[in-house]
Amino acid sequence: MALAVSTSSTSAISGSSFSRASSNHNELRAPQIGSFHLLDRPHAASIALNVSQRRSSVKPINAEPKRNGSIVPLAATIVAPAEVVEKVDVKVEDYDQLAKDLNGASPLQIVDKALEKFGDDIAIAFSGAEDVALIEYAKLTGRPFRVFSLDTGRLNPETYQFFDAVEKHYDIHIEYMFPDAVEVQALVRNKGLFSFYEDGHQECCRVRKVRPLRRALKGLRAWITGQRKDQSPGTRSEIPVVQVDPVFEGMDGGVGSLVKWNPLANVEGKDVWSFLRAMNVPLNSLHTKGYVSIGCEPCTRPVLPGQHEREGRWWWEDAKAKECGLHKGNLKQEEAGVNGNGLAHANGSADVADLFDTQDLVTLSRPGIENLLKLENRKEPWLVVCYAPWCRFCQAMEDSYVELAEKLAGNGVKVGKFRADGGQKEFATQHLQLESFPTVLFFPRHSSKPIKYPSEKRDVDSLMAFVNALR
Ligand code: SF4
Repeated sequence: MALAVSTSSTSAISGSSFSRASSNHNELRAPQIGSFHLLDRPHAASIALNVSQRRSSVKPINAEPKRNGSIVPLAATIVAPAEVVEKVDVKVEDYDQLAKDLNGASPLQIVDKALEKFGDDIAIAFSGAEDVALIEYAKLTGRPFRVFSLDTGRLNPETYQFFDAVEKHYDIHIEYMFPDAVEVQALVRNKGLFSFYEDGHQECCRVRKVRPLRRALKGLRAWITGQRKDQSPGTRSEIPVVQVDPVFEGMDGGVGSLVKWNPLANVEGKDVWSFLRAMNVPLNSLHTKGYVSIGCEPCTRPVLPGQHEREGRWWWEDAKAKECGLHKGNLKQEEAGVNGNGLAHANGSADVADLFDTQDLVTLSRPGIENLLKLENRKEPWLVVCYAPWCRFCQAMEDSYVELAEKLAGNGVKVGKFRADGGQKEFATQHLQLESFPTVLFFPRHSSKPIKYPSEKRDVDSLMAFVNALR
């Protein structure tokens, strides 16, 4: 496949409106998610002219020459006419500082900055869902841009139709990346078509997604993703708007050779949707059937109102494992301590302050929670969090859990906590359904079996709804 090419006009943006310089275009207004002025665009007109010409010279990707005759893979490697390529800024950049500087910037400003800095060496990773917003923002910058996508071979028909609609709408060619046929063949012959339901999605994702992605990224210096903090409180709550990629390498190889831009990091899902509606862009028809986060067909299902979007992905697995490997840098050491081999903090002796200190909450010892497990009839139901004080997700829910305890004090539900790391972890894994921290359990009045809170939403209202549904 071939190069993704942008609009033939340039943009000037002021306040909440995007107005195109071309007299052939009416003023565009986009919903406000921040604002900025496009500056430093001395050659915008010539770029726009050349980009429109470039569309007609697109060739199949496997007909393109290699860069520098190096190991850069053919896929995702497009060489544009020399006059189109913008200058690539290779000076050493402090991306932590840049992330801070851009933290309050709009997605449009961030996308513009990314395209300005990396020119033809950056591409948008398009998943076939609402991250079409990235393509719209790229078009609005007026700069040339590239788009790639991973065709795992297991996508919904609606997603393929959506890809086609996006290509036509933006007059672009998406650079599809495919899994290695020999690897897919070996996996399917050995384990069948649905092995991921039995032994987890990682192996299949590695073959169908991660390795093709790695190949694509080896032809780039930077990529743009649609990750948002609100997509997964468990794994994406701290993603910056730009970072040195913590997992993958770019074309120069080695640590630091790839930069990852997340222009939607600070945007809420509802604001992305307002933007998409306002700009009247094509959408994946699965969204009208209750799908929010969309991946492969066997691993994606619709969510109910009020459910978190990531609950529709790999629903048979623990919430913290819900990264397919494309963004595994989001997984923190804390999870490795629980879900992995347990080496991190294995002795539970990390010298961090304890959590959930309030008189409205009972601190349960091992005998205390063993006793609670044995009781068939309790005077009151209990809500108990199994936690580790060093766990960031436990720390993140401290305020809401303490507030919940205050609200439930004297209202017929006891609220407790049990520190389940270190020497207690094996017991908690066996008897308290612990797979990751925090695990919240409800002990009904007339049953010895606790019910595990299934959601990643740990705000007061969500936890209270869980309690009220079971009390
Ligand atoms: Fe395989 Fe499911 Fe991962 Fe797709 S999402 S690559 S089908 S495990």
